[in-house]
Amino acid sequence: MRRLRNVKIVATLGPSSDDYNTIKALFENGADVFRLNMSHGTHQEIKHKHDIIRRIEKELDRPIAILADLQGPKLRCGVFKNGDVVLAKNDTFIFDLIKDPGDEYRVCLPHKEIFNVIRKNESILVDDGKIRLRTISVTQKQIKCLVEVGGKISDRKGINVPETIIPMAALSKKDKVDLEFACNLGVDWLALSFVQRAEDVNEARKLTKNRTSILSKIEKPSAVKDFNSILQASDGIMIARGDLGVEMPVQAIPPIQKKLVLACRHVAKPVIVATQMLDSMVESPMPTRAEVSDVATAIYEGADAVMLSAESAAGNYPIEAVRTMNNVAIEIENDPMYRELIDSTRSGQRKTVADAITVAAREIAETTEVTAICCFTQSGTTATLVSRERPRVPIIALTPLVKTARQLCLHWGAHCVITGHVDRFKMAVISAARAAKKYHFATLDKQIIVTAGVPFNKPGTTNIIRVSPVDEKLIFSGEQE
Ligand code: PGA
Ligand code: MN
Repeated sequence: MRRLRNVKIVATLGPSSDDYNTIKALFENGADVFRLNMSHGTHQEIKHKHDIIRRIEKELDRPIAILADLQGPKLRCGVFKNGDVVLAKNDTFIFDLIKDPGDEYRVCLPHKEIFNVIRKNESILVDDGKIRLRTISVTQKQIKCLVEVGGKISDRKGINVPETIIPMAALSKKDKVDLEFACNLGVDWLALSFVQRAEDVNEARKLTKNRTSILSKIEKPSAVKDFNSILQASDGIMIARGDLGVEMPVQAIPPIQKKLVLACRHVAKPVIVATQMLDSMVESPMPTRAEVSDVATAIYEGADAVMLSAESAAGNYPIEAVRTMNNVAIEIENDPMYRELIDSTRSGQRKTVADAITVAAREIAETTEVTAICCFTQSGTTATLVSRERPRVPIIALTPLVKTARQLCLHWGAHCVITGHVDRFKMAVISAARAAKKYHFATLDKQIIVTAGVPFNKPGTTNIIRVSPVDEKLIFSGEQE
């Protein structure tokens, strides 16, 4: 089983996709990574989905990545006497720390931290930005606001304060419990919501103790501002356009997306473009033309992955949504303009032997008729460097480590294969040739590129590159892996 595209597809699982048959169909139709949203469902329900994915992985003998997404410090207001009130433009309204149910004049905002840092003339947004207020006076106990855009505010609605940096713990109590649970399950990637600064990532890393890779969701203006240090602290990035579009004007998102995708490609860390990609497919079997264009844009930009949220988690057409993304990806990647754009946006500092070898592999693939680049990798780093080159031919990432294979599923182009123990370069070439043939990346008369590090089984040693034929002698040499 192989994909006919390089960009990866992340599918969020939820009530529309929590059974074996649907999850298997999602994988078969193109989902490479499954996202488990820790904001919804009990641990038992999340473990149930996790176990189904691992069962499918075993049955189909293909590594699959699992991404657990922590809820993060999402702010919510308290409750109202009658469940809700309607705020009108130019009303004044107060957020305070009094636990009593709210009314048309006030409501509790049970996050003490905000009262110390929010200033006069800053925005408070309610319910995904549907209601907008501006602060007119602030004390330690009370934030008085003017309503700029009115609407109905009801119990425990989400609150955003885009202009304020809140000195809140990056991980709530719930997040810490969820993090430990997800690490014990053995997820491959952990996504952190509402990251504000690099320290937030470092704090999470102390708790994960390297049991999983960390992906930072960029959904706050402060995260955009401090992006470089957040990127450095993270293993990957999600451009979380949902909340980002609440906290910033929506028209600010496309340029941010372009900039962030390039920055991630530069340092060989995977980047996911997320949210509302095929939103109308929650209700309809057909996407809008504009949505197809949005998916295409992310692919032309060279993103590692595109993501489905409600479309696959709670929509009526989860499988059709994955199939649509897969079809769009195949079409776009076959457009000659795609190659031109990808080649002209390649960048990155290259200093090490591994960097040089991966560049050489890409250039050999441009010059000759090789049909795949096969790289042996322990930690996965060499495969991420090959992926950064966005080569013209498929990448086969061979590793004896299941965890490495799964994590690499998120990276552009990586077709991951778990090998037996390899301790000689000749064995590596044989094993690469067999994988290339088995997964239909090469036929017997073709050539492949093989890269590896000697001595074997030591991360970060990539130092050999060879162009090798996929010939019968090699494949049927009787050597055991
Ligand atoms: P969410 O994150 O779906 O967890 O809110 C994605 C986003 O905000 O875009
Ligand atoms: Mn979000």
